[in-house]
Amino acid sequence: MKPKIAAPKAQKQKKDAPEPCPCGSGKDFAACCGLYLHGGEPAPTAQALMRSRYTAFAHKDFEYVLRTWHARTRPPSIDLKSAGAILWTRLEIIACRAGGRSAKEGKVEFIAHCTIDGRPEQLHEVSRFVREDGQWYYVDGEIKQARLGR
Ligand SMILES: [Zn+2]
Repeated sequence: MKPKIAAPKAQKQKKDAPEPCPCGSGKDFAACCGLYLHGGEPAPTAQALMRSRYTAFAHKDFEYVLRTWHARTRPPSIDLKSAGAILWTRLEIIACRAGGRSAKEGKVEFIAHCTIDGRPEQLHEVSRFVREDGQWYYVDGEIKQARLGR
């Protein structure tokens, strides 16, 4: 199935142009979440991990999504059919509680915007993260509102 993507406003991009990071930081992917997805660096804060997991969802890099999911709550796999049908369009960080560089746990509230079959949808969640051995992990989330076509 081909996802229907509204063409971005007449912006011609060169093939080798740096890609703006999907997490909305304004940085290039390679200098932002790419450091964690492909560079082997651990995300330094809960928010950085949250952003990088959003970017991984946007890139359909589900290996990273699973790798950064705490072993205690990690699903055995990701449903590629339903996850693959979601086109993530924008991340809005609403609030962060703790989750700094030396913290052991943190919470990040966000709204992730997406489209499914061209319909705009969103997920509003407070995610919980823990840091173990210098690596942040997603534990679970309290969903405030989800409109993901269910
Ligand atoms: Zn990023």
